[in-house]
Amino acid sequence: MNSAKIVGPGEPLTAVSTETPRPSGEQVLVKVDAVGVCHSDLHLWEGGYDLGDGKFMKVTDRGVKYPVTPGHEIAGTVEEAGGEASGFSKGDRVLVYPWIGCTECPACAAGNENLCDTPRSMGIFQDGGYADYVMIPSYRYLAMLDGVGADTATSLACSGLTAYTAIKKANANSPEYMVIIGAGGLGLMGIQVAKAITKAKVICVDLDDEKLRTASEMGADHTVNSKEPGADKAIMSICNQKGADSVVDFVNAPPTARLGLDILRKRGNMVMVGLFGGSIEMSLVTIPLKSIVIQGAYTGNYTDMTELIKLARDGVINPIISKKYTLAEANDALTALKERKIIGRAVINP
Ligand code: NAD
Repeated sequence: MNSAKIVGPGEPLTAVSTETPRPSGEQVLVKVDAVGVCHSDLHLWEGGYDLGDGKFMKVTDRGVKYPVTPGHEIAGTVEEAGGEASGFSKGDRVLVYPWIGCTECPACAAGNENLCDTPRSMGIFQDGGYADYVMIPSYRYLAMLDGVGADTATSLACSGLTAYTAIKKANANSPEYMVIIGAGGLGLMGIQVAKAITKAKVICVDLDDEKLRTASEMGADHTVNSKEPGADKAIMSICNQKGADSVVDFVNAPPTARLGLDILRKRGNMVMVGLFGGSIEMSLVTIPLKSIVIQGAYTGNYTDMTELIKLARDGVINPIISKKYTLAEANDALTALKERKIIGRAVINP
């Protein structure tokens, strides 16, 4: 099998050829048809996350071991199933649930392996889908993909799934106005999900006019370019000077977090999703006085992923795939994403 591996932070991905493994027990060998190129692959490639104040969290301190094959948005075809893998056989088209946990901690026991204390996520802590084949540890992490194309399906395993979880959290206070910050892979899915499952009027914020045009096409009721002075005032004016009931920050960097908190109304609900990183200072009294909720959202569980496949199958959400790369072009795909040249999602078809 052929894969493109990250061998160290910032180094070009390296093409590696190894013998294709045979599955045993619950394992399933999947032939990769498409793998999404997610901004989290970039963080893995860069070696970690900006914690602000000059601090950096290395992915190796979180348990990542290089070399590793990135790619957690994997859609493919079952090539061979191990003897104890039930429900799947050669030729089945599947989406991989990549947020694999220990199966034993309280989060895993509650069905939320994405929030596991000791995660084993694919494409991060174990080899993922920038490869022509990938070994899935158990058939339990596969979902059948009838009626959804492989390229489209990739984003349902991460960007769509994360957006779905985040929007559900943001919808807890039945918002009239929901601000979505970031119109990238996650944010554009967030807009579609928000229009599908909430009654909120959606205001999308980005610093790129082309991304904002796409946001309008996806259903955003209003768009605001945060590069322009007075973005906060523009949002307040749309929200009748009261502020937004909910904010979902798919960037989560100092300028976006500050903007989000500034325009959040009393009793508001702020959901932080992006991993761009950094830190901000907060005036502590405003949190109790405004009685706001600030919470994080991290990917989603297997059940959420199957619900999302149904929404895609019914045509309620339509992930945008704007660019396709071969496995040999994996470095180009990551570089284009870093340079903000990708609208929606790019996929690699190995
Ligand atoms: P992307 O690169 O596709 O999109 C990022 C968008 O943010 C772009 O449209 C860009 O123009 C915009 N942007 C950047 N800086 C901005 C700023 N200061 N103000 C306004 N807009 C700005 O990235 P993506 O794949 O959508 O991922 C977004 C973030 O979410 C990444 O950090 C990624 O690692 C993270 N992520 C988090 C989870 C989770 O579960 N919490 C899951 C997947 C990805």
